[in-house]
Amino acid sequence: MNLQRLQANLRKIFDPDRLLQNEPLAKHCNWRVGGPADLFITVRTADELTQAVRAAQAQSHKPTILGFGANVLVSDKGIRGLVILNRAHRISFQQNHVVEADSGTNLAVLAKEAAKQGVGGLEFLIGIPGTVGAAVAVNAGTRQQWISILVEKALVLTNNGQETWLMGDELDFSYRNSKLKQSGETVITARLQGKPDEPLNIERKLKEELKVRKTQPTGPSAGSVFTNPPGDFAGRLIEACELKGLQIGGAQISEMHANFILNLGDAKAGDMKEVIEKVKSEVAKKFNIQLEEEIRYLGEW
Ligand SMILES: Cc1cc2nc3c(=O)[nH]c(=O)nc-3n(C[C@H](O)[C@H](O)[C@H](O)COP(=O)(O)OP(=O)(O)OC[C@H]3O[C@@H](n4cnc5c(N)ncnc54)[C@H](O)[C@@H]3O)c2cc1C
Repeated sequence: MNLQRLQANLRKIFDPDRLLQNEPLAKHCNWRVGGPADLFITVRTADELTQAVRAAQAQSHKPTILGFGANVLVSDKGIRGLVILNRAHRISFQQNHVVEADSGTNLAVLAKEAAKQGVGGLEFLIGIPGTVGAAVAVNAGTRQQWISILVEKALVLTNNGQETWLMGDELDFSYRNSKLKQSGETVITARLQGKPDEPLNIERKLKEELKVRKTQPTGPSAGSVFTNPPGDFAGRLIEACELKGLQIGGAQISEMHANFILNLGDAKAGDMKEVIEKVKSEVAKKFNIQLEEEIRYLGEW
């Protein structure tokens, strides 16, 4: 990748003031850790997202897409090349309770807008911090429902710059996983199938979803750090290893929920990683179970 050439090309497409250099990514990630991005741009429409990704691809570079940074651990060394902060946010309601949303749409905003339109079925999204595109790529959800149940199709930008609609059953969804998580292709827009419901009823369900969230730790985190192994819960295993409260540097395993690691204020990404490695080794020793990260590592490790 030729960074100068990429920068020059992006400046032809976007107002040069929008293209930042050495932008600290801790500002853009929920964990509030992570070093700088060489180049950083915020896109506000699906078209801008497509153009920015294609500009990088033209330099044989695969850019990093960030939504709310609610499921990533960015290295203290940061990310080389281009980071695109996705704020493409158009929502359009169509016939038969179908809603099309740009991939940078805030899930909570989407759930609330759907409620106003009498489109039900999206209520569980209100408590998941993040964007539509990442939610589709990682098949975000609750214990009861995953976004895959809603996805009719998604407009995807392939790694060679082609836009293609993929149907839900072509996305190979499984627990916190999809074909896109593996391929690293970019979700541009998603078309979700809701169902008819009374706005007041939807409002009630939204409130219930938010009530459940009150039992979760507050403070900078990435939600659940590990996926649940088959038939068990990562949180239960970590708690059984008596690791609640374990602190390394500024990173601490939550006393409230053992699968959450909190940034106490001055944590480094390296502290988070050390806690993660400690948890994996203790759980493997005690239970012979290899925990796997739900969070994604970004940047140089
Ligand atoms: C307090 C808290 C509670 C949480 N609760 C839940 C929960 O109940 N259920 C759950 O599933 N998750 C939960 N999470 C994790 C997180 O909210 C979800 O994984 C969410 O989908 C992340 O969205 P994001 O936009 O922040 O993605 P990011 O963290 O920005 O990105 C995640 C990954 O997706 C990629 N990506 C981003 N945008 C796109 C795109 N447009 N196309 C393709 N790839 C893309 C990124 O490159 C990265 O690899 C929680 C997190 C927190 C902090």
